[in-house]
Amino acid sequence: MIDSSEDSQTLRLHLGDQTLQGLLWTELTFDAGEIIGCHDALLWIRPPVASVGAIGAIEDTLAGAYDGSPSIHGPATVNTQTLSDQATVPASLYGQRKDQTFPTLTPDQISRLAPHGKKVAVRKGQILSEPGDRHRKLFVILSGGIEVVRPTMSGEEPVVTLRAGGFTGEMSTLRGVGSLVRARVSEDAELLAIPDDELRTIVQTDAQLSELFMRAFILRRVALIAAQQGDVILIGSRHSAGTLRLQQFLTRNGYPYVNLDVDNDPNVQALLDRFHFTIEDIPVVVCRGEQLLKNPSNDELAECLDMNPQIDCKTVRDVIVIGAGPAGLAAAVYAASEGMSVLVLETNAPGGQAGSSSRIENYLGFPTGISGQALAGRALVQAQKFGAEVAIANSALRLRCEPRPYEIALLGEHIVRGRAIVIASGVEYRKLALPNIDRFLGVGIYYAATFVEAQLCKDEEIAIVGGGNSAGQAAVFLSGSCRHVHLLIRSNGLAESMSRYLIRRIDDTPNITLYTRTQITALQGDESLEHVTWHCATDGRVETRPIHHLFLMTGAVPNTTWLAGCLALDDKGFVRTGADLHGEDLAANRWPLTRQPYMFETTVPRVFAVGDVRAGSVKRVAAAVGEGSACIQLVHRALAE
Ligand SMILES: Cc1cc2nc3c(=O)[nH]c(=O)nc-3n(C[C@H](O)[C@H](O)[C@H](O)COP(=O)(O)OP(=O)(O)OC[C@H]3O[C@@H](n4cnc5c(N)ncnc54)[C@H](O)[C@@H]3O)c2cc1C
Repeated sequence: MIDSSEDSQTLRLHLGDQTLQGLLWTELTFDAGEIIGCHDALLWIRPPVASVGAIGAIEDTLAGAYDGSPSIHGPATVNTQTLSDQATVPASLYGQRKDQTFPTLTPDQISRLAPHGKKVAVRKGQILSEPGDRHRKLFVILSGGIEVVRPTMSGEEPVVTLRAGGFTGEMSTLRGVGSLVRARVSEDAELLAIPDDELRTIVQTDAQLSELFMRAFILRRVALIAAQQGDVILIGSRHSAGTLRLQQFLTRNGYPYVNLDVDNDPNVQALLDRFHFTIEDIPVVVCRGEQLLKNPSNDELAECLDMNPQIDCKTVRDVIVIGAGPAGLAAAVYAASEGMSVLVLETNAPGGQAGSSSRIENYLGFPTGISGQALAGRALVQAQKFGAEVAIANSALRLRCEPRPYEIALLGEHIVRGRAIVIASGVEYRKLALPNIDRFLGVGIYYAATFVEAQLCKDEEIAIVGGGNSAGQAAVFLSGSCRHVHLLIRSNGLAESMSRYLIRRIDDTPNITLYTRTQITALQGDESLEHVTWHCATDGRVETRPIHHLFLMTGAVPNTTWLAGCLALDDKGFVRTGADLHGEDLAANRWPLTRQPYMFETTVPRVFAVGDVRAGSVKRVAAAVGEGSACIQLVHRALAE
C-alpha cells in the first residue's frame, strides 16, 4: 500500500505488515514523493523536485525500487532470457515525465538556438551518430524525424523516435564523450545542427534553455540506466572482487549496464562459451558488443566506453583539481563558473568517500538526507555545465612542482599543466592488521556500504568495525536489509566518536548489537570470507560467527604519496597549509615569495590543498565543500600576482 501524507509532501510505502522502515533508512520518506512509473513490478519513485542537476538521483530512484520482497536495487541483475524485454525503456517511466524527457521546443526557443547551429537537410536512413562517437552535434528537428536505437548483439532496440521540435542528446553530448546510442534519420528531415561547444555556451548563458536541456539529458540518462540500455554487459559473480569493483565503478559513474551473474543465471555459461571464456575468466565485460575485456582495470573500461573527454595535454589550464570528492567538485564548480579553465582528475568516480555513503543527513539543505552519490552526481553535472573537464579513472601519479606551469604526470607518460593546482585527493580507509585480509577484499571485506554492497548481504548476519559516523551510518543502513548487524569497537562506547542521532538509532534498532572493547583476531574462508573471530577485552570472551560480510570503517590515511617530497606534510602525511605552516616549513621548502602563504596554500605558491587531505581540516562533507569553493577566490588572487 502506498500512502501519501498530505501535510509534508512525503510518501511512505507499506509492504504487507511492514513499511519500508529501516530498509533504506529509519523511515522511507521521499521528498515530494511521486511515483513516476511501474515496470516489471519495480516501483520508480521520483527524487526530490529540484533534481535538475541530478544524475546521482538515479541512485535515489533505483533505491526506491521494490520487487515484491523488501530489497534494495542498484542496476538489477537480469536473466539472459529476458534481455530483450528488459531493454525496452519502461513506457510508464517516460510516460509520466515524457514532456520533460522529450520536450518540444517552441518556435521562439528554436529561433534562440538558430545562431548557435547550422541548418542541414538529411535523407531517410542517414546515420547521424554511432555508439562511441565523441563530440556529437545536438540536432534540433525542424521537420521530418530521427529514430534513436541501441545496437545489441541480437539487433537494434528502439529507444525513441523524435519529430519536429524534438532534439537529440543526453549527458554524454554535453560532455563530448562517447555516445550510448545510434541516431538515424527515419524520414527526410531538416535539422539544426549545434556543435557540442555551442551547446555548452547555450547552457551557460540561456537560463531557460539550460534548465530544459539539463533536465531532459538527465532524465534520458536515468531512463537508460533504469532500462539497462547501456552498451556494456558485465558477466561476473557475487563471489568475485573484480565484479564488485566494476559494478561499483559503473554504478558510481552513472553508466547503464547489464549485470549477468554466473551464480544465478544458468544461461550465462552459454554466453561465456560463445566468447570462449571460462568461469575462471570472470569478470568479463562485453563493451559495445564488440570488444571483450577480461577483468579490465577501471581505466581500461573507461577507455573502452569512451567515458572521458579527450585530454588535450598541450593546453595549460588555469587550475587542475586533483580528486572529484566534495572538495574537488566544489572547487571545479566555482572555478569553472568564474571563467577559469579547469581540469579535474579522478582516480575512480566522482563523489570520493561521500559517494560511498548511503545517506548523508547533516549536509545543509537536505532535511531528509541525501545519498553521497546523488550529491556527487548533482555536483558533477553542475561542474560540467560550467565547462569543467572531468577525467575519471585518471590518477595524478606525480606532481612536479619545479617547472612553471606546474606539471602533473598521468598514466602512459602523459603530462598535464596548470597555472594553479588544487589538491583535493582526500583519504583512504585504513586496513586491519590481519595477515590474510587482502584475500577477502571485495569478497567479504568492504570499505563502503552502498546499495551495491547491501544487495550482497541481504538477509545475512554481518559485522562492522568502527565507532565513527561512517560506521554508525553503515550499521543503521544495513540493518534494514541484513538479518543482524554486529558492531565492533575497540573503545568503551560510542559517545566520544559518533553523533548522538546515530547512537540513538543504533540503540533503537533491535537487530544491531554493539560490542565494546572488542577486536577481530581472525578471518577464515576459502574463496570468500566464511567466519570471523573476535575477542572481547572486558570478559576475555572469544567468539567465532559465520559471517560472510565484514565492513571496515576504521579511520583513514591521506592520499598524498603522489606528492612525493614536493611540499610540506604533517607527521601523518596530511598536507600543511596557510597559517599552520611554520617558518621552518617555508624555509625547508624554499618558499620564494615575500608574502606568507594564503589560507589553504601549501609551501608551494599557487598549489592549494582542501578537504580531508588537508592537515587540521574538519572531516565532513560541508567542510570539504566550503574549503573547495573558498579556495578559488585565493587561486584568483595568487594567479593575479
Ligand atoms: C561511509 C562514509 C560516510 C560518511 N558520512 C558523512 C556524513 O554523513 N556527513 C559528513 O559530513 N561527512 C561524512 N563522511 C565524510 C565525508 O565523506 C568526507 O569528509 C568528504 O568526502 C571529504 O571530501 P574530500 O573531497 O576532501 O575527499 P574525498 O571524499 O576523500 O575525495 C577524494 C577524491 O580524490 C580521489 N583521488 C585520490 N588520489 C587521487 C589521485 N592521485 N589522482 C586523482 N584522484 C585522486 C579519490 O578517488 C576521491 O574520489 C562520510 C565518509 C564515509 C566514508
